[in-house]
Amino acid sequence: MRSPAEYVSRRAHAVDASGIRKVFDLAARMKDPINLSIGLPDFDVPEIAKTAAIDAIRSGNNRYTQTQGIAPLRERLRADLSREVGRDVGDVLITSGVSGGLFLAILATIDPGDEAVFLDPYFVMYKHLLTMAGGVARPVDSYPDFRFHADRVERAITPKTKLLILNSPSNPTGVVMSEAEVKAAVEIARKHDLLVVSDEIYEPFLYDARTTGLPSAAKSYEKTLILRGFSKSHAMTGWRLGYAAGPEPIVSQMTKLQQYTYVCAPSPLQYAALRAMDVPMRDAVSAYRRKRDIAFEVLSRKFEVVRPDGAFYIFPQAPAGASATEFVARAIERNVLVIPGNVFSDRDTHFRISYATTDERLRQGCEILCTLA
Ligand code: PMP
Repeated sequence: MRSPAEYVSRRAHAVDASGIRKVFDLAARMKDPINLSIGLPDFDVPEIAKTAAIDAIRSGNNRYTQTQGIAPLRERLRADLSREVGRDVGDVLITSGVSGGLFLAILATIDPGDEAVFLDPYFVMYKHLLTMAGGVARPVDSYPDFRFHADRVERAITPKTKLLILNSPSNPTGVVMSEAEVKAAVEIARKHDLLVVSDEIYEPFLYDARTTGLPSAAKSYEKTLILRGFSKSHAMTGWRLGYAAGPEPIVSQMTKLQQYTYVCAPSPLQYAALRAMDVPMRDAVSAYRRKRDIAFEVLSRKFEVVRPDGAFYIFPQAPAGASATEFVARAIERNVLVIPGNVFSDRDTHFRISYATTDERLRQGCEILCTLA
């Protein structure tokens, strides 16, 4: 007879989420912590989007939508993205968050043994989704500057490499790839015939003067799948709305897989997201630029830290002699919650701060961290 635990698949066992769970367990025991760990904006969903969601529910948009999403939202996204990248961006699929898009992209492209290359530190999900699909994650060390080092990336490529996953602006480092870095990434992708999966969920959060928008592989390389969403841009992490845009043969396979997994993204919220697209988010981005400046200014007094250019994270190095996990434990004793780098990395030398909180708490939290350094 099997015990309940014996029903668990090797696939499920292969996913090790212990790092982040430990942090959540610690956080649950803290009373009113200065929480610099949360990966979501501290503003609320724009009022216009809330009203649009309520209107959509009241007017009966509560049934399944087409698997690929509602036509007006897909058309709008295709037009906007095509204008941005300077060519037709390809097919668009509305997904259940960017997480849904990532899951479907990996399921649609990765056969057992296929490899995917991405920079370390990385967004945790990449590694686990690849494991679930039977693929092999090939993280490429990008310390200490977290830039795209083409020589290192190239060394990680094998005949089994199929995907180059890019994440700019990056979680957890906040680094934004430059035009030159994107060009180098595209050259590698072309040379080794890779599909680029470009996770651009933090695209609206760019802080340094840029007139040409986010440098993206999609602008010069057709074999790019863009993944973006509304979770961060409009503070709708709970609405589960994202989208994938790229080559039709891939997006249509993702659509087929969505049909048998997520079915469709939440129906009324798709209508609301369409309305939210017209809400200017400039003020929120300016507020985050100011928070970036506060975090960098305070932390750089005591820590080795790269000045981030986007997203809402900063990734300082723990003081010499302590692992990040040890340092984070000391921070938690002082009621400041941050995340140790080993959650996002093969190294345990840095820690992630999310500066999506009030200026006051951010300053207070960073100053406490400085006293521990
Ligand atoms: N990609 C990155 C880099 C992220 O940081 C996140 C969320 N933390 C996601 C994808 C997934 O976001 P969601 O599923 O909420 O759209």
